[in-house]
Amino acid sequence: MDTRARLHDEIAARREDLIALTQDLIRIPTLNPPGANYREICDYLDRRLLRAGFHTELIRAEGAIGDSDKHPRWNIVARREGEAPGQCVHFNSHIDVVEVGHGWTTDPFGGEVKDGRIYGRGACDMKGGLAASIIAAEAFIATCPDYAGTIEISGTADEESGGFGGVAYLAEKGYFARVQHVIIPEPLNKDRICLGHRGVWWAEVETKGEIAHGSMPFLGDCAVRHMGAVVAEMEDSLFPALAQKRTEMPVVPEGARQSTLNINSIHGGEPEQEVDYTGMPSACVPDRCRMVIDRRFLIEENIDEVQAEIHAVLERVREGRPGFDYEIKELFRVLPTMTERDAPVVSAVARAVESVMGREADYVVSPGTYDQKHIDRIGRLKNCIAYGPGVLDLAHKPDEWVGIEDMMQSAEVMALALHELLGG
Ligand SMILES: [Zn+2]
Repeated sequence: MDTRARLHDEIAARREDLIALTQDLIRIPTLNPPGANYREICDYLDRRLLRAGFHTELIRAEGAIGDSDKHPRWNIVARREGEAPGQCVHFNSHIDVVEVGHGWTTDPFGGEVKDGRIYGRGACDMKGGLAASIIAAEAFIATCPDYAGTIEISGTADEESGGFGGVAYLAEKGYFARVQHVIIPEPLNKDRICLGHRGVWWAEVETKGEIAHGSMPFLGDCAVRHMGAVVAEMEDSLFPALAQKRTEMPVVPEGARQSTLNINSIHGGEPEQEVDYTGMPSACVPDRCRMVIDRRFLIEENIDEVQAEIHAVLERVREGRPGFDYEIKELFRVLPTMTERDAPVVSAVARAVESVMGREADYVVSPGTYDQKHIDRIGRLKNCIAYGPGVLDLAHKPDEWVGIEDMMQSAEVMALALHELLGG
């Protein structure tokens, strides 16, 4: 029997194990925020991966954003060396899940199996992907015990809140310096290879005014009206211009294949509701108004242009409004990243998808960022993709699920990719 068929059988024999593993992971509620039960899930993965012959290391991201004695940021890195020296393939999954929200008809931490699906918060994003990568590695080791090189599996904290206590921390500590290939089993669908993501620039724009009695607004200067002029200028000139900026990046969904801007929030004047106060507000002209913007940009744009564009909007408003004054503050930035289609990890997974699914893989780029940004920027490793089971649109929604057949097939793809990269 050839290796391809043996890998298939090894994975088929692990179907119940894959289901149970996914259920176990879902049943540990690793909600972030606050970052609960990271140690519990790392201990669980530790036992599992030790049994599979991995050396494991539990690493707390001490001092990282979010890390505290109450909610320590635990990560696990497991490593198994083969019979001969070779390259290192690293599977990275985040262990945190987002809040449950409303509208569930199943227990979000029950791991219920129904009609070929496993339900629960994190089922597709991304405990199903983590389970599939573990099964893939175990099946590959059973089939090719004499492989050359190293397999690593990590479970990392805080992806949903920026990854600073997870992949960013590991990258800073040099964990990716010994790695050649990274596969992140995020839910991108079993036949799609995600090459990277668009860039992000978050900024806060503040308009300034002057406080006065609300019955005589002409004695003050209303910061909210100034902000209104900013929004109007964005509608007139910025949004149409962004819609014109198309990209060669294969971003999905199609609507995100351009520059976008979201106005996350606007706050001006007194808060509408104080926690311990239910009375009327006082009559004042607001002297401050703040807007948070979320600009997503393309590999064809650079961050200086993106910033200059917002400054230009504000300067145009200034020309038309006497007394207009503003401040702008950057909150967060991530540069766009896209792995080349002929990078070794991309070709290996593409060939494996074709072999398992009988059709060519689609290449996609994510509209939002994920932990690849830290592997690229801090870890200085370009040879990285996201590939895993699950439907991206279900992530963060009620009744999130992952398909068992999808997990089986993507585990087979991952095992075949290991075979191509590590031989044996
Ligand atoms: Zn995710």
